[in-house]
Amino acid sequence: GAPASGKGTQCRMIVEKYGLVHISTGDLLRAEVSSGTDIGKKAKEYMDNGMLVPDQVVTDMVVSRLSQPDVRERGWLLDGYPRSYAQAQSLESMKIRPDIFILLEVPDDNLIDRCVGRRLDPVTGKIYHVKNFPPENEEISARLTTRSDDTFEKVKSRLETYKQNSEAVIPTYSDLLNQVLVYF
Ligand code: AMP
Repeated sequence: GAPASGKGTQCRMIVEKYGLVHISTGDLLRAEVSSGTDIGKKAKEYMDNGMLVPDQVVTDMVVSRLSQPDVRERGWLLDGYPRSYAQAQSLESMKIRPDIFILLEVPDDNLIDRCVGRRLDPVTGKIYHVKNFPPENEEISARLTTRSDDTFEKVKSRLETYKQNSEAVIPTYSDLLNQVLVYF
């Protein structure tokens, strides 16, 4: 799914239902950036410019997460990865294949509106939208933050990148593809 297509929400519901470990490369990368690690330092500039972080950096991070005991025991749901032909091929070459591949299709206008209005509560992790899902009270409203890549220009660029890369990834998984059309 594209930025703000609802991937995060769907993933939370799926892992709850099936007991899987949710591995979101966007979340992992943001954690690396805020802890100031080497990976975070390499990734930050790309993320701030709405560009993909180099394949090798992300793949190493994902492979290391996939090898941890909780993932081996409970199984995994990858969110936001693979996002390029090279990333899909890296998984294939390691014989790491999902059982199912879910593609969320959302019209561009919906996606732009959802991104530009998106706000995050750093205390609870809950996601709000200025118009569609405003915070419950003033206290929450005052502490909401905006992702630095959720500006109009950066979202446009992320959508273009998404289109190019999803076209590159889908053929690898055409036998496992489940396409869902979503209108918000
Ligand atoms: P997301 O939260 O999934 O929208 O990801 C936020 C940003 O993290 C993206 O705009 C990219 O800069 C970076 N990112 C996340 N996943 C990947 C990936 N699989 N490959 C490269 N960059 C990624």
